[in-house]
Amino acid sequence: MAREVPAVFGSVFHKDMPVLAFENGAWQSVRWQPADNLQLHPGAHCLHYGSECFEGLKAFRQQNGGVVLFRPDANIARMQQSAKLLGLPVPQTGAFLDALIELVARAADEIPDAPASLYLRPTLIGTDPVIGKAAVGSDNAVLYILASPVGDYFKAGSPMKILVETQHMRCAPHMGRVKCGGNYASALPWVAKARKEYGVHQVLFCPNGDVQETAAANFALIKGGEIVTKPLTDEFLHGVTRDSVLKVARDMGYRISERNFTVEELHEAVENGAEAILTGTAAVVSPVTSFVIDGKEITVAGQERGTAIRKAVTDIQYGAAEDRYGWLVKVA
Ligand SMILES: *Cc1c(COP(=O)(O)O)cnc(C)c1O
Repeated sequence: MAREVPAVFGSVFHKDMPVLAFENGAWQSVRWQPADNLQLHPGAHCLHYGSECFEGLKAFRQQNGGVVLFRPDANIARMQQSAKLLGLPVPQTGAFLDALIELVARAADEIPDAPASLYLRPTLIGTDPVIGKAAVGSDNAVLYILASPVGDYFKAGSPMKILVETQHMRCAPHMGRVKCGGNYASALPWVAKARKEYGVHQVLFCPNGDVQETAAANFALIKGGEIVTKPLTDEFLHGVTRDSVLKVARDMGYRISERNFTVEELHEAVENGAEAILTGTAAVVSPVTSFVIDGKEITVAGQERGTAIRKAVTDIQYGAAEDRYGWLVKVA
C-alpha cells in the first residue's frame, strides 16, 4: 500500500500521543490523548524559563514489511541527560521505551514506504504554574511524544551551501549537549541573517575558528580515507547519527579522527578535494556542495563518499543490510 507522504516535513501527526506526567514527586502511568491539543497553565515554567528539551528519532517500514525503531535507547539516554542539565525530572527508561513502541505500533499503518519514515518527537516540559520560579527548576513535568509520517528529507544532487561563521557561537558553551529549543532560539539570529545575506542553507558555527556544528546537524570532513570530526565536548550536540556514521564508516575502512580542527584546515582540505557532510536524524547524511568562507564561495569537489556512507546507514534502517550493531528495535 502506498501511503501518502506529506509535502512539508513534520506537518502531519498521528491523531493520538502518549503523555507521561511527573506529579507529586513521581512519574505517573501513561495517558493517551488527542495530539492536537495540550492543556497548559499560562504560567507554566517551560513557557517562561525555557525548561524544555526534545528528541528526534525515526521508525522505518523495512523491505520485509516489519516495522523498527532506530536506536531509541540512545535518544532516551540523551533526553535523560538533557533533563538533568535543565533541572527537570528525568524520564524513566522503561516507560519511555514502552510509550515509543506502542505509539509506533498504533501509527504503523501511516508509515510510508522507503525512503520515507515515521519521525518521532518526544518533548519534555516543566509545568510548574509558578512564575516566581526563575531561579529553580520545575518540580513537575510532562513528557509527550508526537509521531509524524515524513518523506525523504534528503534530495540527491540538491545543493547544500554552508556559511562558515567564526564570529558567533550557536549557544552558550555549557549548553551545547542539551537538545533544547533555547539553543535553536540562540542560533536563529545568525541563521536567519546568513540565509538572507548569502542564500545559504545552513550555518557552520566555528567560534574563534574551532569547527563545531550547524544549528541542527553535526559536521564531519572526509579527507581521503580519514573522517575528521570534533570530539565529544560540552559545546555541541552529541548526535546519534554522528555516532552511527562513525561506526559504519570505520567498518567501511575509514580512519576516524575525533579531534579539534580549525577553519583553516577545513578550507585547505576542501580546496584539496576533501568532502564534507552534515549528519542528523532527519536527512541522515547531507553532503555539502559549497562553503562560504570570508565572503567567498568554495565548491566542494564531490559528494560520492558522503552519499555511500549515507546509503550504508539507510540500508540498515530499511533492512537492506544486516544490523550488525544491534541498532534496530522491532515493533511489528
Ligand atoms: C538533534 C541535533 C543534531 C543531530 O542529532 P541526531 O541524534 O543525529 O539526530 C545535531 N545538532 C543539533 C544542534 C541537534 O539539535
